[in-house]
Amino acid sequence: MKDYTENQINDILNKSLDALLVVNSKEDCYKAIRRSEEMTKYIEKEGSYRKLIEKLLFHLNDSSAKITDDYQIFLSKMGEFHGKYSRKLNLLINEKRHSIQLLVYPINETTGDFIFLLYNLDQSDSEREIELENKVKTMQETYLFSMYVDLNKDSISSINVSEISKDDMQYEVKYSEWRMMIVNMIWPEDQEKFLKITDPINLKSQMKPLKTISLDCQMKNLEGKFIWVKLIFGRTETSSEQDFRFVFMVQNIHDDSIKLFNELKKFEKQASHDALTGVYNHGRIETELSNAIEELKTNGTPVSLMMFDIDYFKKINDTYGHATGDDVLVEFVNTIILNTKNKKIVTGRWGGEEFVCVCYGIELKSLEQIADEIRETIAINSFATIGHLTCSIGLTQVSKTDTEKQAFIRLDKALYNAKHNGRNCIATL
Ligand code: GH3
Ligand code: MG
Ligand code: MG
Repeated sequence: MKDYTENQINDILNKSLDALLVVNSKEDCYKAIRRSEEMTKYIEKEGSYRKLIEKLLFHLNDSSAKITDDYQIFLSKMGEFHGKYSRKLNLLINEKRHSIQLLVYPINETTGDFIFLLYNLDQSDSEREIELENKVKTMQETYLFSMYVDLNKDSISSINVSEISKDDMQYEVKYSEWRMMIVNMIWPEDQEKFLKITDPINLKSQMKPLKTISLDCQMKNLEGKFIWVKLIFGRTETSSEQDFRFVFMVQNIHDDSIKLFNELKKFEKQASHDALTGVYNHGRIETELSNAIEELKTNGTPVSLMMFDIDYFKKINDTYGHATGDDVLVEFVNTIILNTKNKKIVTGRWGGEEFVCVCYGIELKSLEQIADEIRETIAINSFATIGHLTCSIGLTQVSKTDTEKQAFIRLDKALYNAKHNGRNCIATL
């Protein structure tokens, strides 16, 4: 203790003191009395108080980028101090993150005069802190902000904007006004949905205690870019029917989760489509028929089936090779697709050179005509490399009492009959 002389203490204080500023909040100005070498690059010698606050307290977590104008509404209550105040800041100075302690001392609160002291925190401390902070951040990053809403008081409180700060902001505004401000940050086409989900009358009438509702939409983030978010409203647990307090959260649906979702969609596609021809595979076309039977039972939509089999396909393989055979299969399917595209007809590969179509809203009589036209189109088409080929087609209408299996067995028999009748024809069962 006795080793510390006044000079030594001054030295220690000076070494870590990064800046000393005198500010006046009412006249919107400040003056730097002292700045470290590093700080001269970050804080001007004098300037606007409001801009200084924005720079120190109101910026994106990992950058010094300016927050988009739409969110400047949050700024108005920052930089109002009463009595002494202390807070740790993360500043990005020259691309480097600094952990800085801000101390605020009032000189004269009525005139708005304060002293700001900025201390640079010990490096190892700040590194440890950054590590901890990163952990918190990964949790926080999933939401942009959260707050409490009290519909009876028409108030919101304790907003936490995770991209800016871990602290709650004491932001006083009516819920009804806040809602009309925030709606402008929602993607125009989603605004109506936002207003519906946030409507106090709706929330009161539809939400039992502990119930949660959510809406996925696009919203401007603090940098002004539209990102996918999930808006979540949860009514708090309460025993009173008249207590309408809610938690509102805006969750950032990560790029990662969208990527993951797209991956899943890709797998889903792979799992349900035939790799060679791109149409539905065997399993998926079976599912299609079972869905169609459901639709027939519930809505009475007529369902009929077609099964194609290429005539003497083996010969094509034997003559031109398997690769050419593959090309023929692709061209064959494309011809079917092209000739069914204006109708509600779903095509799948049954296996080998056999294809099945599930036809919605088409009775057998009209299907016979459609099938025969396709048969003829195929017969006169000149396929690449091989020239002409023909096919046989089986047809059947699905009845309400059919199982998938029964319908397919009948279809297969119809096809067999077409083959038996000399090929290049249709047969019905
Ligand atoms: P039919 O008129 O009686 O239908 O005679 P077909 O030769 O068409 O009938 P078959 O069932 O005997 O032969 C089907 C051939 O299809 C046998 C197989 O080598 C060939 N095949 C099955 N899958 C593929 C494929 O993915 N690519 C190619 N190139 N050939 C295939
Ligand atoms: Mg066959
Ligand atoms: Mg065949």
